[in-house]
Amino acid sequence: MFKSIRESLTRTRQAVFGQIVNVLGMGEITEETWEDLEALLVQADVGVPTTMALVDTLRERVEREGLFRAEQLLAALKEELRAILNSDAPFELEGKRLLTVVMVVGVNGSGKTTSIGKLAYHYKQKGRKVMLVAGDTFRAAAIDQLKIWGQRADVPVIASQPGADPAAITYDGIRAARARGYDLLFIDTAGRLHTKYNLMKELEKVYGVCRKSVHNAPHEVLLVLDAPTGQNALVQAAKFKESVHATGVVLTKLDSTAKGGMVFAIYRELGLPVRFIGTGEGIQDLAPFDPDQFVEGLFERN
Ligand code: GDP
Repeated sequence: MFKSIRESLTRTRQAVFGQIVNVLGMGEITEETWEDLEALLVQADVGVPTTMALVDTLRERVEREGLFRAEQLLAALKEELRAILNSDAPFELEGKRLLTVVMVVGVNGSGKTTSIGKLAYHYKQKGRKVMLVAGDTFRAAAIDQLKIWGQRADVPVIASQPGADPAAITYDGIRAARARGYDLLFIDTAGRLHTKYNLMKELEKVYGVCRKSVHNAPHEVLLVLDAPTGQNALVQAAKFKESVHATGVVLTKLDSTAKGGMVFAIYRELGLPVRFIGTGEGIQDLAPFDPDQFVEGLFERN
């Protein structure tokens, strides 16, 4: 039903990883092979630290295992990339409890509202009773947009007036979900405020209301990151991780960019698992992240 990871990786595969396959397609490993590999990994937005670490590990392996053919290096590269994508954090969104509360955070334009709409649809299809809270009260348009996504996904949206206190609307949302027997609540949050106002402070307040109102909530704090912004997104991400304890990432717009390598930097440098990828603008354009499929998809021949 959902667009596959494979399809959404077409650009990344054609632009960069396809070239890695070419470079490592045949022949022996030379110094040039290493240089090309390093440059291509950085180009794919794997990030400099992660690229360096990967190349070091691969050089050691080549030495230790006596690899000399480029194809052997390609196989080793796939294994090492796959190994980066490990996380033992349980996906609490899918845990069993009366009410699961999920805060969704990220800067404006990252695809937060769209992703909440897709998630609402996805989990409603899976039989969950989903409700949304319009916690980005700073922009009137954000409230309206969330309502539109609520209609598309056919789930209720708890909202108040622009300018209202996001902590208060969060509290109302939790109360409404409980009273009406909803079991999965997604809270949209602001991605920007007046310059003088501290966004992180406001998000912490919303976080605090979740904590006080429901046992162990928020059960997930999903950080929406925009793949085309590449390494810049990681800097913002660190702030969100610190302030509101982000637990996982939704990586959007993977269909429109060659920068799929960011996934590796998110795991290794941010220490967060990627839970979903955005694969287009439609309601079904969301895929649960699968590390095996992802790595295979990057290297598959077109
Ligand atoms: P927000 O400001 O973070 O709430 O961002 P929006 O949800 O309004 O999305 C910003 C823009 O990105 C919109 O034009 C969306 O259609 C687009 N968008 C969101 N997710 C994806 C995706 O996975 N792929 C593509 N191609 N576009 C996306």
